[in-house]
Amino acid sequence: MAPALCANCNTERALIKRPKNHAKLCKACFIKVFEEEVHHTIISSRLFHRGEKVAIGASGGKDSTVLASVLKILNERYDYGLELVLLSIDEGIKGYRDDSLETVKRNAVQYDMPLKVVGYDELYGWTMDQVVATIGKKGNCTYCGVFRRQALDRGSKMLGIKHVVTGHNADDIAETVLMNLLRGDLARLSRSTSIVTGDSRSEVKRSKPLKYSYEKEIVLYAHHKKLDYFSTECIYSPEAFRGSARSLIKQLERVRATAILDIVRSGEDMARLVPRDTSSSCSCKEQKNAAPIALAEDDVGGCGSQNGRTPGNEMAAMDKQLRDNEVHEKFEIDVAKVISEGKKTGPEKQQWGLPTRNGNSATGAVGGQVLGNCERCGYMSSQATCQACTLLDGLNKNRAQIQI
Ligand SMILES: [Zn+2]
Ligand SMILES: [Zn+2]
Repeated sequence: MAPALCANCNTERALIKRPKNHAKLCKACFIKVFEEEVHHTIISSRLFHRGEKVAIGASGGKDSTVLASVLKILNERYDYGLELVLLSIDEGIKGYRDDSLETVKRNAVQYDMPLKVVGYDELYGWTMDQVVATIGKKGNCTYCGVFRRQALDRGSKMLGIKHVVTGHNADDIAETVLMNLLRGDLARLSRSTSIVTGDSRSEVKRSKPLKYSYEKEIVLYAHHKKLDYFSTECIYSPEAFRGSARSLIKQLERVRATAILDIVRSGEDMARLVPRDTSSSCSCKEQKNAAPIALAEDDVGGCGSQNGRTPGNEMAAMDKQLRDNEVHEKFEIDVAKVISEGKKTGPEKQQWGLPTRNGNSATGAVGGQVLGNCERCGYMSSQATCQACTLLDGLNKNRAQIQI
């Protein structure tokens, strides 16, 4: 049987079956299409402005490495006029950051971008190893995530940069949507789908240019572009609830490739039901005047390393398999086989009887959070003290008791 031709260029042999929609593409077209989709997200949400200084939250992991690589390419290809800087956070986890920081340092050279490294110890007086020694491994990803979020903001401020981009992908967003849905937290759900977080009071804007990119496609992109990234998983495991949401999404993806994007879109649609909280979507669907803004405080992603998020190290396994398969690359490979052996089952559209919500109850139930600033550190917060300061209070009490 003749090998299938690329559905895009119709000349080259199709080597990649896109996880997102199962389109069969050649390597060059996959890379181009992946980049163009990110460009489309950036343009349609008016994410950047000319001359803007942008910090890329860089962990050395696949997501942020791909983000840095794609932004560099798009910045040059479409002349965005951005000044890109790599911003790395050292959580203080022995043996983990050492290698990933080396990776980020190499990336800085490869992409010709300045690099700034900020440590948890400088910012909070605690390394993650010290946190774990004090509270144990349970729940430490909460600390890591909360600290990390502010660390990027504080690091940016130090650099005089007002916009941080992170490597959060569609899988991450879908995970958060599902978690908030399962918690019945519609207000938070709406914010988690926004491409931009932060508000007028926060000095630093945060955004997720890869919010529509599948994790599997990020791995494929990194592989085919031969990007230099650190693939060891974070040694501290994610929280059970997030882990469960993650497993569920991976299972859904196996039987329905579009499930991840569908969850993200549903999250965006549900967000529109929530008053006083702008949601986000690609503006092809709906024209908006400006990029929507949401609260960064709700952008809790557990361990912010972008690693250690997949049960059974699925992404690491996929990565390894891709490397192993590299020698066979001149032959036709159906990458989808590597990724999952899922079969399409059942009717594509299920009809769920969705209860309708009337406007008033929606306002009362979910629209009522008031945003202010933390009285200790000034970081925006819906409580008097922000999450980081609350966590630090607990930690410092522990430390005081130990010293007595
Ligand atoms: Zn092609
Ligand atoms: Zn605070």
